[in-house]
Amino acid sequence: MLRYTPPVDDMAFALFDVFDAEAEWARLPAFADMDEAVAKAVLAEAGKLAAETLLPSYQSSDAEGARWRDGEVVAPAGFRAAFDGLVKGGWLGVSGNPHHGGQGLPKMLTVLVEEMFWAANTNLYLYGALTTGAAICIDAHADAALKRRYLPRLYSGEWTGAMALTEPHAGTDLGLIRTRAEPLADGTYAITGNKIFITSGEHDLADNIVHLVLAKLPDAPPGSRGISLFLVPKYRPSDDAADGPDAAGSVRNGFVSRSIEHKMGIRGSATSAIEYDAAVGHLVGEPNRGLACMFTMMNHARVSVGIQGLGLAELGYQNAAAYARERPQGRAPSGPRDQNAEADSILVHPDVRRMLLAQRAFTEGGRAFAAYVGLLLDRAEHTADEVERDAAQVAADLLTPVAKAFLTDRAMDCALLAQQTFGGHGYIAEHGMEQIVRDVRISQIYEGTNGVQALDFTARKVLRDRGQALRRLLNDLRGETVPDEFRAPLHAALDATERAAERIATAARADPAAPGAASVEFLELAGLAIYAWLWARMAQVVTKADAAQRARHEGKLDVARFFYAKLLPKTVALECAIQAGAAPVMALPEELF
Ligand SMILES: Cc1cc2nc3c(=O)[nH]c(=O)nc-3n(C[C@H](O)[C@H](O)[C@H](O)COP(=O)(O)OP(=O)(O)OC[C@H]3O[C@@H](n4cnc5c(N)ncnc54)[C@H](O)[C@@H]3O)c2cc1C
Repeated sequence: MLRYTPPVDDMAFALFDVFDAEAEWARLPAFADMDEAVAKAVLAEAGKLAAETLLPSYQSSDAEGARWRDGEVVAPAGFRAAFDGLVKGGWLGVSGNPHHGGQGLPKMLTVLVEEMFWAANTNLYLYGALTTGAAICIDAHADAALKRRYLPRLYSGEWTGAMALTEPHAGTDLGLIRTRAEPLADGTYAITGNKIFITSGEHDLADNIVHLVLAKLPDAPPGSRGISLFLVPKYRPSDDAADGPDAAGSVRNGFVSRSIEHKMGIRGSATSAIEYDAAVGHLVGEPNRGLACMFTMMNHARVSVGIQGLGLAELGYQNAAAYARERPQGRAPSGPRDQNAEADSILVHPDVRRMLLAQRAFTEGGRAFAAYVGLLLDRAEHTADEVERDAAQVAADLLTPVAKAFLTDRAMDCALLAQQTFGGHGYIAEHGMEQIVRDVRISQIYEGTNGVQALDFTARKVLRDRGQALRRLLNDLRGETVPDEFRAPLHAALDATERAAERIATAARADPAAPGAASVEFLELAGLAIYAWLWARMAQVVTKADAAQRARHEGKLDVARFFYAKLLPKTVALECAIQAGAAPVMALPEELF
């Protein structure tokens, strides 16, 4: 049976000690009511919900799975009560627009709330996370009437959201989609086509499901410049074409779940193939500008999926550490630790300590990273000063693919290490570790594979602006005051990242394959350098703290030293691999694969 203790103290450390969230919120009028006490109360409540209400159905939902019958999809038993907990607490609207019933809490805080929901029950929270993302997209791009009609019910969780992009022949390359949108006389559109892999596209946890669907208008230009975005509800409210709020659930719209997928993991989450047959939809944003609008949802979802990985890595670590403390096997290298026992706990073995420390380094570093990305998103949305706002947006854009891919790749590493800590007991279902491995795996694939995130980071976010945003970030990080012992290796990692960017830019001028051949290594290098900054910053906080504070954060300095000694050196190998250029990847002729 998996256990989970919400890491609220470490979250408070990331918010208030590492990033001084109170000072941040004091500067932003949108967060005038926020302070440390309120934020800690929010974290405590979310943690209680996660551990007591969400966790109990996580393992049973994997065994049971979602079920499909004649187009109806039934979520696993226990999900309705758990989802009610999310709904009643208003948790799906925590970061929503207060003008439409959202609570408008800072993202710096809500990313950590999300971490606990993802950790406790990833399967269940998938029904909620898509709802939050759909609401963000509607708030940013839909007209006032749609916002009034749909946002309050999405924030309340009465209705849920889904994102319908993928088609059988169109995944990464959305320019290939074939779903059509025919204009109707009343200003709505008839949507016809087939989508696959639609998370929460059909289920029985909410009264209505609001799909955001990518489709093409009859006169659309070819490729990704001809994609439009439509809001397509499962039930059309009785006055769907009129302005203003109304009673829900009057007319069933023209789409149906044709089947659900049988998957490696996240089995409690229903993933539908959806057939749209002249379903009535509303245009969101400008015609043919749908992909840009959808990116609002996808960017949110990418950060959220990164945090899904982080949450699952934390769940794995907590259970692995507990197991290591309790499992007696062998003796400490220096001789028996517990003379009265037949064997010592496996925690005495250096290799077990290595596995647990690597998980700690990536989860605690990841938590600080999530808080930092949340801080940038808050500044990008709420800072009055235009220059500062734009700079925060550029930095958030730069780091979004890193948050998605680095958090989830490291989460996969952590899940495997957590499973390995259990030995053979990690491989059997009983302890839940193999489920964590299977559930983390999807986070590297959906919302754009991690390979595609790396390409986005390298080609679009770094090369396109000639490395300016990256250089600005690296220079900011170089300016940080850190303990002496970390300064040289931190600067070496930041310099290696800058050199690698220059190297790839130079190579790209001669060879268009160069960015793609180095991008995965480059993103990992940048991720490690950013974590080096975060660990040095955390170490600085602990070093400067008074004795009482230091006692609260006992162990941070040891984990920082482990990160620097055992994990950061990988940057050297990554830089070497980047310097090798595209030839080793591109030399083998296609016909020899
Ligand atoms: C469980 C699950 C849930 C999902 N939920 C949703 C959902 O709710 N809504 C939705 O719309 N979709 C959803 N998806 C779809 C998911 O986002 C896609 O599967 C994913 O983006 C990859 O697309 P694809 O599977 O078609 O792979 P492909 O695009 O065919 O890619 C195959 C491989 O080629 C690589 N590749 C492709 N193009 C490039 C390129 N230009 N450069 C470098 N490498 C490239 C990829 O990285 C990958 O390794 C879900 C998928 C799954 C499995």
